[in-house]
Amino acid sequence: MAANTISHFSPFTQEFYQSLFDVADGENIKTCLQCANCSGVCPLGYVMDFPPGRMISWLRAGIFDEVVESDSVWMCVSCYACVEVCPKNIPLTPGLMTRAKEEMLLAGNIPTELQSALEFSQRYGNPLGESPRKRAEWANGLEPEVPIMRKLKRPVDVLWFVGDYPSYHPRVQQTTRAFFKLLNALGIDFGILGPEESSDGDSQRLAGERGLFEVLAEKNGKAFSKYEFGEIITTDPHAYNALKNEYPALGIKYPVRHYTEFLVEHLDGIKALLKGNGEMRVTYHDPCYLGRANSVYDAPRELLEAIPGIELVEMEHNRTTSLCCGGGGGGMWLDGFQWEKSGARLSDWRVKEAADTQADVLAVACPYEPPRFEDAAKTVAGADKLIVKDIIELLADAL
Ligand code: SF4
Ligand code: SF4
Repeated sequence: MAANTISHFSPFTQEFYQSLFDVADGENIKTCLQCANCSGVCPLGYVMDFPPGRMISWLRAGIFDEVVESDSVWMCVSCYACVEVCPKNIPLTPGLMTRAKEEMLLAGNIPTELQSALEFSQRYGNPLGESPRKRAEWANGLEPEVPIMRKLKRPVDVLWFVGDYPSYHPRVQQTTRAFFKLLNALGIDFGILGPEESSDGDSQRLAGERGLFEVLAEKNGKAFSKYEFGEIITTDPHAYNALKNEYPALGIKYPVRHYTEFLVEHLDGIKALLKGNGEMRVTYHDPCYLGRANSVYDAPRELLEAIPGIELVEMEHNRTTSLCCGGGGGGMWLDGFQWEKSGARLSDWRVKEAADTQADVLAVACPYEPPRFEDAAKTVAGADKLIVKDIIELLADAL
């Protein structure tokens, strides 16, 4: 018998358990203490039949089929909160939960709304089902013209990977246009891929569609390879995570930064341009894939503190303990399903915390968040005056 096998496992459970060791630090699963820290911190653990710790205990008992028959894995929003508190450094989000979702997909146990997003991604290269030809339509009418690499025909310092929601979602397009304004104000030499850009695929991967992720990554890799650029920047922490941590294993290796890391390097230039936009109290929400997954906590705060008139206040859960907005890891495409099971929206909890700080503005740094938090602010008691803005918008407003 091979090392690490347990004789009473069913062949299916055995294969699944072994596959968990392939993820970085995956073998740590054998050291699980059953302390339940992971289940305790999980935002939707209270409605899961199998939160991570219990899933591990069932695996140890040689039983996994029941996990695949339950739909509790679809309550996982891939928020990395469990990873953050695990004393044994077990890769619960990228390993156990993501692999379990892959098995759910193979078993055909998949909520309909998620299925649509995955089918759209396969057919159109984005989960919104929009035409790839319209990917740069957010730029129509902007002055100067937004530089598209295919037309530019020269190397640039920065390739701006725009992303799905920043390209297509009407609310997030406002942020995209504000970022364009900022890059121009700073005199950055940049270009975008336009219709040649596809979804980064990270949320599809975390929702269990590894094959689709690889197809999308390869399409982007092919587009990158046509052009010369110094580095990639993106406003989307999910795209950032994919390009930084997942694409290199597929041979697609480029330097990449989230826009907060990029702009903070230009802080002196930005400060010279900022006039302020009046006094305001601002609280900042750490996105899971910028904070916990990639440890970027200071750059967003430094940018906010550079804006004249802004007083930065922290919510009760901040930095490593930030509460998930519910959109990551496919959560964006499971809102209805999760609402039906839990009767809760994670974005409501976050907006409630933001309103409790008496902030005027909830600042964010992820394109999933403005639409989610603005929706929540309409219904959460005491949050009706809370304004939701990406840091990009606050900077552009203060120019
Ligand atoms: S936090 Fe880590 S060690 Fe504790 S039960 Fe969860 S997986 Fe096991
Ligand atoms: S990643 Fe988040 S939602 Fe998923 S199991 Fe861990 S704590 Fe729960």
